[in-house]
Amino acid sequence: MKETELKIKILGNPALRTKSKPISSVTARHRKILSEMARIMYAASGVGLAAPQVGINEQMIVVDIGSGLYKLINPKILRKKGSWIMEEGCLSVPGIYIKVKRAKKILLQAEDEFGKPLKMEAQELLARVFQHEIDHLKGKLIVDYASLFDKMKVRKAVKELLLKSKDEKLSEQSTESCKLQL
Ligand code: ZN
Repeated sequence: MKETELKIKILGNPALRTKSKPISSVTARHRKILSEMARIMYAASGVGLAAPQVGINEQMIVVDIGSGLYKLINPKILRKKGSWIMEEGCLSVPGIYIKVKRAKKILLQAEDEFGKPLKMEAQELLARVFQHEIDHLKGKLIVDYASLFDKMKVRKAVKELLLKSKDEKLSEQSTESCKLQL
């Protein structure tokens, strides 16, 4: 696999529905993938990206909501507090926005890009983005949160998306939006 040629995978790609494996030993290869993921995230105007979104089912995420770049390995939520709803988009599900209820505050455990264990607290938007990316590592997508009311609408949009997913121009459209893309 050539990691220099990583590209965002769109709904319908099996990597998005596969559970990602924990990384037992962090190497230069992981650091290289994380850097490439960050580059792709910024290029797509996203605020987060998980490894399955570029076709790699290993537990790695990158997040930057404007307050600095996080490159995390084996992220895990230890504690959740409160809840709030916000509309989310996803770079792998372009053009679809779903209201998602997430914890307001989380305590997170992970490793940095050198394998050093860390614990951190995150709130509001940052906590939301971490939760969205960790969902990706479990094979979970925003469409799974669609309410009964939204399901018909989403089903139609997803069907169109699956038809269009062979069209390479699709990923360019998603960058036009100023909404939350993760
Ligand atoms: Zn996403």
